[in-house]
Amino acid sequence: MRNKTIVEEKAIFEYGVGRGAVQHTTVGDIDDTYLRHDIEGMTDPGEPEVVRHFTRLSTMNHSLDVGMYPLGSCTMKYNPKVMESAAGEKSFSSVHPAAPQSMTQGVLELMYGVEQYLKTMTGMHSFSLQPAAGAHGELAGMLIAAKYHRANKTGRHTILVPDTAHGTNPASAAMAGFRVVNIPSGRHGMIEADTLKKIIDGETAGIMLTVPNTLGIFEEQIVAIAGLVHDAGGVVYVDGANFNALLGKARYGDMGVDIVHLNLHKTFATPHGTGGPGAGAIGVSSALREFLPVPVVEKRGHKIVMNYGLKNTIGRMTGFYGNIGILIRAYTYMRMLGVRGAGQVAAIATLNANYLRSLLKDRYNLPYATPTLHEVVFDDTLQNAFGVKTIDIAKRLIDYGFHPPTIYFPLIVHGAIMIEPTETESKDEIDRFVAAMRAIADEAQSMPQTVIGAPQSAPVARVNEVKAAREPVLVYRPQEGPRR
Ligand SMILES: *Cc1c(COP(=O)(O)O)cnc(C)c1O
Repeated sequence: MRNKTIVEEKAIFEYGVGRGAVQHTTVGDIDDTYLRHDIEGMTDPGEPEVVRHFTRLSTMNHSLDVGMYPLGSCTMKYNPKVMESAAGEKSFSSVHPAAPQSMTQGVLELMYGVEQYLKTMTGMHSFSLQPAAGAHGELAGMLIAAKYHRANKTGRHTILVPDTAHGTNPASAAMAGFRVVNIPSGRHGMIEADTLKKIIDGETAGIMLTVPNTLGIFEEQIVAIAGLVHDAGGVVYVDGANFNALLGKARYGDMGVDIVHLNLHKTFATPHGTGGPGAGAIGVSSALREFLPVPVVEKRGHKIVMNYGLKNTIGRMTGFYGNIGILIRAYTYMRMLGVRGAGQVAAIATLNANYLRSLLKDRYNLPYATPTLHEVVFDDTLQNAFGVKTIDIAKRLIDYGFHPPTIYFPLIVHGAIMIEPTETESKDEIDRFVAAMRAIADEAQSMPQTVIGAPQSAPVARVNEVKAAREPVLVYRPQEGPRR
């Protein structure tokens, strides 16, 4: 078990005044007229106290720089530090977003490069880099589908969404004005063309498939499914947020997909960080190019231009050019990997997940026997016999120095434990994680109270998540005293 330093939970405002040491951050020779005096009860911690305070705080959280972060579906892989220095490069970070295009050719060329790479890897005809997150890309895709049906006066209003789709998919379809129809997956954890045949009708505007789906399983019948949807006059949307598993191996464009979004902040560096910043690039077939959100980058002669004039565009999804910082990281990553290196990402991500699966499947129940790609979903059936649940297993992992996996998702698996090791973890780190999971399975049996009471070593034990979401305290008020 790794040691955690337990420090007193204290806000920087709660340090005392006049601490008796030389204060490097005190006001010195600054003229009194420039100083604020109106912060009542404000303390004056010195530089060493501030540095130690924030350094200690930084160790209270788990991060990728500390260890594996197997949060399923989020692709929390290690990202080389060079991406951060590229994004921080002054020539990028100091460009004003409203600067004329003649002065932003470097940024535009980078965006053009990102688009070319994505086209090569996905087989799609064109991309827009506007959306600022995965779910934002889904919304863009659904708005494109809606506008396509309006432009063609088809009068279709329903989108089919499998029970194995990502949770944001039905919400995105509904926000774009569609009625959502749920499609049940079969016992192998994938959508079957025969099931679809019974559901598709004259109202069907399209399907929204997550590929690989949230069980980490590839939709093997996707070509037949796309054919059925097309024959019925619908469009095929794919949520490609977890493109890691297919990168350099398979292309959505070759499977009959009309619209796809990718999470550049998962597959192409920048970890997925609850709400952003992200980049949900959206790709379409040639027939849908004119519907893309604007601006899109285009090459005219030697110049790269921003085109705002697509005929049927759904408009803007965000300000200016999108989340440029994420695009810079993605481009750096793409150039490091190249087109040939990309296949290794998919191969090792899949190998790692299957290695882990093979070492845990005798201790944790596997609800689906179908081979998986980049992630694997277990459940807590075997531990339930001892009163131990998924949440307990997840919290106990914190004591072993690991971030918990994604839990209770996908919803079709009761007590789901969704593990994605990613391609950047070594065999050693995966072995350590497996040893921790196996030890927890032992504990669940021999001393279930230890698991149920976990975490034992974290600075904060179990928080009331409902209360935190419903009544968030976002402002520090000194008169209320220290938070406990
Ligand atoms: C992460 C993810 C999303 C949502 O991406 P955000 O950037 O969090 O909005 C959508 N679909 C799948 C399959 C994902 O894994």
